[in-house]
Amino acid sequence: MIRINDILDQIHSYMPDADTSLVEKAYVYSAKVHAGQTRLSGEPYLSHPLAVAFILAQQRLDLASITAGLLHDSVEDTLATIEELEKMFGRDVARIVDGVTKISQIEFQSKIQKQAENIRKMILAMSKDIRVLLVKLADRLHNMRTLQYQKHHKRVKIARETLDIYAPLASRLGIDWMKRELEDLAFSFLYPEEYHELRQEVETRLGQRKAYVEEVKEIISKKMAEYSLSCRVLGRPKHIYSIYRKMRRQNVTIDEIYDLIAFRIILKSVTECYEALGIVHALWKPVPGRFKDYISLPKANMYQSLHTTVIGPYGERMEIQIRTEEMDKIASEGIAAHWLYKEGKVISKNQARQFDWLKRLMEWQKELEDPREFLESVRMDLFPDEVYVLTPNGEIKEFPTGATPIDFAYAIHTEVGHHCAGAKVNGKMVPLKYKLQNGDVVQIITSKHHVPSRDWLKIAKTSKARARIRQWIKTEEREKSLALGKDLCSREFKKNRLDFNEFLKAEAEEIARSLSFKTVDDMLIAAGYGKISPAQIVRKYLRTKHGEDYELHQTEVQTQTKTKKPSKEGILIHGHDDIMIHLGKCCTPVPGDEVVGYITRGRGVTIHRETCPNVSALEPDRKVEVQWTTDNDVNYPVKLNVVTADQKGMLAAVSNAISAAEANILEAKVTTNPDQSAHFTFVAEVRDGEHLKKVVSGIKKVGGVMRVARQASS
Ligand code: MN
Repeated sequence: MIRINDILDQIHSYMPDADTSLVEKAYVYSAKVHAGQTRLSGEPYLSHPLAVAFILAQQRLDLASITAGLLHDSVEDTLATIEELEKMFGRDVARIVDGVTKISQIEFQSKIQKQAENIRKMILAMSKDIRVLLVKLADRLHNMRTLQYQKHHKRVKIARETLDIYAPLASRLGIDWMKRELEDLAFSFLYPEEYHELRQEVETRLGQRKAYVEEVKEIISKKMAEYSLSCRVLGRPKHIYSIYRKMRRQNVTIDEIYDLIAFRIILKSVTECYEALGIVHALWKPVPGRFKDYISLPKANMYQSLHTTVIGPYGERMEIQIRTEEMDKIASEGIAAHWLYKEGKVISKNQARQFDWLKRLMEWQKELEDPREFLESVRMDLFPDEVYVLTPNGEIKEFPTGATPIDFAYAIHTEVGHHCAGAKVNGKMVPLKYKLQNGDVVQIITSKHHVPSRDWLKIAKTSKARARIRQWIKTEEREKSLALGKDLCSREFKKNRLDFNEFLKAEAEEIARSLSFKTVDDMLIAAGYGKISPAQIVRKYLRTKHGEDYELHQTEVQTQTKTKKPSKEGILIHGHDDIMIHLGKCCTPVPGDEVVGYITRGRGVTIHRETCPNVSALEPDRKVEVQWTTDNDVNYPVKLNVVTADQKGMLAAVSNAISAAEANILEAKVTTNPDQSAHFTFVAEVRDGEHLKKVVSGIKKVGGVMRVARQASS
């Protein structure tokens, strides 16, 4: 059992001149209020606050944290009150104890919905004073170390919670040693058999590899000495839970995990780190793509180090970390390393900056009344590039700042991403471009009919989501190009009074190859993309069949382009979401317009209004009949030019008229002319020609409007 003197000695080891009277007073007080209480282990209850305070002192935290550690259970489990603590130990200590008490009262295993809310509460409580979380973590660590005395069902619950919530939080704060210990403890209680078996296996293998580890360390030390670099070399085994996770994730056995041991080279300066990296890479071949420079780009929790994986002396993969002593300390202790009592010592600029950060955090806590505002500032400082949001089950997900529900959906599952139709944040519907905020509870709404669109690439922030969207578009483009290519070719064959299906059965392969395509599908896809025209395929086919001088029937092509009414056989336009069919931005066609399709080079078919001035310039060979579908609820953008008298409030009046006609305004531009008129350009979304008419007549009714016209082309 830890005694108060152990704690005081520990404090004096890093704060020789500290006045520990408050700590001693807290000890006496805690002993008094917990008198008579025992722990499940049979020990007096006081042993627990003492152990917690000792863990805090080992982290070299300040006196307020250690005092709060001694008192952390007094309000919850005894008759003591926060008011009393504040009078006796000051505001800081009382506040920390209050925060820890609140976190402890959160019932994590309650209903799923509620759990998410609880984690939000906890993030809020900890963000008011980071010391709240440090004390809570020490409390949890000691409880985990003594968990064997708990009843089975409580053991499982507490271990689960530790794995899900507290270990990730320790990791967030960069307290690596604590994260490792919490994870291994939780693992051992949740899956005792797996834990013990794996631990034994790891120990056996580490025993076998002892000579190997020594050899590698020796080689590194010698090489560094050759270049006059003095360093420490460590060979540290990975912790059991991380090995377990790796085996599960990669579905491999322990013998397939080569880097059970990570080597670490600790040097004096940053320059030496890069020098050492060069030496290591000259010694052993680096594995491409595995080098990470966290020195120039530190992690959000201030972790700094160089990471590389090399092919070691026996052809095996070896992970090597290279860092300075200072970085090594931060890597192990995280935020606590910066808490260090520095009085009377020279503080380096970097340390001063980090210390400032904590001071600022404390200042803000006093200044900012609105918890949301405060949380945001803490988040910006603590995790500058990340937002933490929750699934409805209370699972924490981490994203880069600016991430959207689409990123969230893909983080859940690729299929959820592909069919993401909408999202609810904290119970309310939000647009897909909504930027996720810290603590949001996000729920994705999926629909079988919803599929990714190219626009998603502008919204998605994570590389995972973007890669999945791109992949989907690629597959979809291929499929659609194939369908479109088939459709276009079959029309071209018909025009030449040839049987396309017969062609596919017989000569297609030969023609594809002679046009340098590997397969018939490749040729048809190219036709859909517009990389080769269907007419070229027909020409090749006829010339192969009838000789090089064969004359082609061009007449059919001409009659086709002259056709005014779209026949029922045109290619169907499903709206602007279609990957292979695009609406001309110049003339913004809407359903009901007379339109013509044009096979572009490499972007599928573009739809123009027949009146579009650009149409006459198009190659007749590439024109194709098209037809609107009626079975969709897609909106189409349309450009409107409105000329009004130059008087106040016209923009608002016209906008209102457009909205009143139930059309969405996407863009509004205004230019005032010297002739006392104002020219507006609106881009509005309409369903079809009828809807457009309604919008136009609505605008015309506005007083002061002189002219309304649909823009023919830009
Ligand atoms: Mn406790």
